[in-house]
Amino acid sequence: MSQPPESTRMKSSADEEQSTRVSMPSADTERHRLLAEMAEQSTDMISRHTPDDWRFIYASPAVTHLLGYSVDEIVGMSAYELYHPDDVEDFKRRSPSVSYERGLYTHTYRFRCKDGHYTWLESTSRSIRDAKTDELKEILVVSRDVSQRINAEQANRRLARVLEHSSDLVAFVTPDHRVSQLNEAARDALGLEVSAHESLQLTALFTPESYSLLQQQAFPEAHDQGRWQGEAEMFSRIHQRTIPVMLEVLAHRSLDNRLEYFSTVARDMTAIKQAEAKQQQYQREIDHAARLITMGEMATGLAHEINQPLTAVVNYVRGIQRRMEYDRESALGDIEQPLERIGNTALRAGEIVRQMMDFTRKTDPEWELLELNPIVDDLIGFCGNAAKRHNVQLMNRIPAGIPAVYADRIQLEQILLNLLLNGIEACHRDENQPALMVWLEASMGRADQVIISVQDQGPGLPVDDPEQLFEQFFTTKADGLGMGLAISRTLIERHGGQLQAENLPDVGAKFSFVLSTEGA
Ligand code: ADP
Repeated sequence: MSQPPESTRMKSSADEEQSTRVSMPSADTERHRLLAEMAEQSTDMISRHTPDDWRFIYASPAVTHLLGYSVDEIVGMSAYELYHPDDVEDFKRRSPSVSYERGLYTHTYRFRCKDGHYTWLESTSRSIRDAKTDELKEILVVSRDVSQRINAEQANRRLARVLEHSSDLVAFVTPDHRVSQLNEAARDALGLEVSAHESLQLTALFTPESYSLLQQQAFPEAHDQGRWQGEAEMFSRIHQRTIPVMLEVLAHRSLDNRLEYFSTVARDMTAIKQAEAKQQQYQREIDHAARLITMGEMATGLAHEINQPLTAVVNYVRGIQRRMEYDRESALGDIEQPLERIGNTALRAGEIVRQMMDFTRKTDPEWELLELNPIVDDLIGFCGNAAKRHNVQLMNRIPAGIPAVYADRIQLEQILLNLLLNGIEACHRDENQPALMVWLEASMGRADQVIISVQDQGPGLPVDDPEQLFEQFFTTKADGLGMGLAISRTLIERHGGQLQAENLPDVGAKFSFVLSTEGA
């Protein structure tokens, strides 16, 4: 320390010089006293420094609050020792402007506190010169702690950087709905720039439908409730591309609650929408494949069903041919009835083929309210031949007043058909044995739910844990695929339900699921 510690009272050499020149010493003395008192009480730190190495000649008591040093400790230290190493060079570069040029300047920099941490100070320095010789005598500095401001600025800059580089499309919109700023993602995706002095029309960013949604719903709601969220479509004229987005509109207000601006944050949903469309397409393929598998499982039975009428037709035709060969004239009179039978039998075969084609047709699910009884009657008719072959009796025990259920007709038919065919196969008996029964039931569950079940008098489930039956490819049949129950369960889950299997001791098996009577 080159300077001895001074009293904490502030006095500058400039003041001393002035006091010799001013003609009213008493008033001047009073002014000095006031100035000194202000310095002592100020929350800003007032300090005086040697011009060469900026040693503290004087520091006001605020130094303790600002830097943690006592006045005696800091007097004699060079400010250069306390600058942040990164700021020293900058300071050295600037110091001549204090000493030789303007003599007054403001500077923001980091200063090391007594406990070692750095705090941001903003200092205004001025050079004090000898009035006669103009020799630089010392530097008078007023410093204040600006850490809070600098930290807030840094936080703002960081946030601004995150916003600028966010993959979301961000726009700032004035209260009269003009776009004043776009982040990088928005500029790139929309091919737009906003100049500093000219804002953009909001119509440049959105499709006409989404623009009116914003005007009529999003902005008014954000204005009243602070935010709005929903789906919208942005439009890039340059790229001629519509961008589906998940949009959030936020209203930003000043401290006195005045609306300052809106921000719109849009998440590009193109990839997600494409993935959804792909998934739907994939699901359609699966549904179709599922129906084909069911058809495959029924193929033997269907071949039989179609074969029967075809054989009958052939037999009728052969009968006519034989009679014609024998007595052509009288045969013509008897031909009418067999021809009618041929026609009817061929129509029946055609109907079986039509039902098969209906069932395997590729269609999108169509949700509707469906009456159970007619569907079940149709299915029982459809399975009539299979039931006859296995010597099984089918029954519809669904009460007449059961409410309609909300489902896709083709999927519901497929589920019930799978369960019916499984029941029929489980109840197989030879012709000379008494027939077993498979029946459908329905009852009301909780509130708006209908419980539907297919029950049989077969041997019951082949495993202790019914869940095993729903595993893909689980089968106990020689020609089984083991896909029927797995597919049926997926289809029911898509209806919001669960397919369950249980053993009815001394009776057989029961498969049940729940459907809703109301749309989603
Ligand atoms: P698959 O009929 O091709 O075997 P499923 O997935 O429809 O395929 O059925 C899987 C297995 O579940 C059947 O092989 C059978 O062992 C059992 N199962 C299904 N329904 C019944 C039933 N009603 N009674 C007894 N077992 C059944």
